[in-house]
Amino acid sequence: MKDWRPQTWAVRAQAEESTHHEHSVPMFLTSSFVFEDSEEMRAAFAGEIDRNIYARFTNPNVEELSEKVRRLEGAEAGHSMATGMAAVFATFGALLSSGDHILACRSLFGSTHTILTKILPRFGITHTYVDAADPDSWPGEIRENTRMIFVETPTNPAVDLVDLKWLGKLAAEKGVILVVDNCFATPILQRPIEFGAHLSLHSATKYIDGQGRVMGGVVVGGKDLVQEIYDFARATGPSLSPFNAWVLSKSVETLEVRMEKHSENALVAARWLEGRTGVASVRYPFLPSHPQYKIAKSQMSGGGGVLAFVVEGGLEQGKRFMDSVKLCSLTANLGDTRTIVSHPASTTHAKLTEEERQAVGITPGLIRISVGLEDLRDVIADVEQALEASTT
Ligand SMILES: *Cc1c(COP(=O)(O)O)cnc(C)c1O
Repeated sequence: MKDWRPQTWAVRAQAEESTHHEHSVPMFLTSSFVFEDSEEMRAAFAGEIDRNIYARFTNPNVEELSEKVRRLEGAEAGHSMATGMAAVFATFGALLSSGDHILACRSLFGSTHTILTKILPRFGITHTYVDAADPDSWPGEIRENTRMIFVETPTNPAVDLVDLKWLGKLAAEKGVILVVDNCFATPILQRPIEFGAHLSLHSATKYIDGQGRVMGGVVVGGKDLVQEIYDFARATGPSLSPFNAWVLSKSVETLEVRMEKHSENALVAARWLEGRTGVASVRYPFLPSHPQYKIAKSQMSGGGGVLAFVVEGGLEQGKRFMDSVKLCSLTANLGDTRTIVSHPASTTHAKLTEEERQAVGITPGLIRISVGLEDLRDVIADVEQALEASTT
């Protein structure tokens, strides 16, 4: 059993069988767990025996999910929380103290940006932003008090990449904790731990659920760091509900086949878009025209389900494209079986200044597509008619 491959663990890891001998894991909807006697209870609280105590601390469904994701990523340990942002904040909260500095790639998920710019400074934790496209500038920005490097790759929404092998080496050289938000690539397409990342985290809400139903977050990595994050979460309470954990753990079983299909569909769609009338440019990691194509090929086993393209014209054409789609959903999510389109300049990134948007690669006509699992011919037909409607 010990030499199972990661995908077998993703399907087969299961909380211990109950007296009913179920084949699939039951949902453990209980807020606490009972003890035989005072001695067992004492030993559990003292940490002398491995035992569930209270659902804010541990729950079999939650642990099963963490175990599957850690196996897929080749990490020593993992812990799951209520949302992706809970995992991000618990990572900062557990590992950083007043006076610490974070080096972060400028293109970040909006709420992570809010934590870095609005929340952490109140606790004396500062940051410097660097550009994905300019890695040479990074080493010079590492200070004596830099404790963490935080990146997303591929980035949202411009689909830029960070060279993980290079960054893993830099982090090791400087003695800094490297954290990778691996949400877009998933544990299937990219394993940051293998490149020297200390922690890899996910919004499980996206591809791990993959069907737009529940929220969750997972962080995996070295035992000691994950223990600190667990202790922080156990005390502060962003616990994942057993129901969501049960759904997510079931979803991990099909993550590999879904990611292969998402990647296949997105590559075909990206190729179809490239060079079309009305399309100024297309960004997808596995398109040879991507400026970081070589990096993509060296660290990802598939390009993922997200692509970005720029409609000719600009803001108005971008909005018109959004108004013209009939099949694709206009919704604030990604990583769903249903194809989702978004127009960052008028929505998620509307509050930024023009220069700030430029700095993270968001031009007025940029459209992000999270390519789903419908029959791709229907998706492409929808995009085609929307392109025509928006550019004529
Ligand atoms: C969605 C997302 C998050 C936040 O996850 P939630 O589950 O919404 O809290 C963090 N990082 C990335 C890259 C995301 O796409």
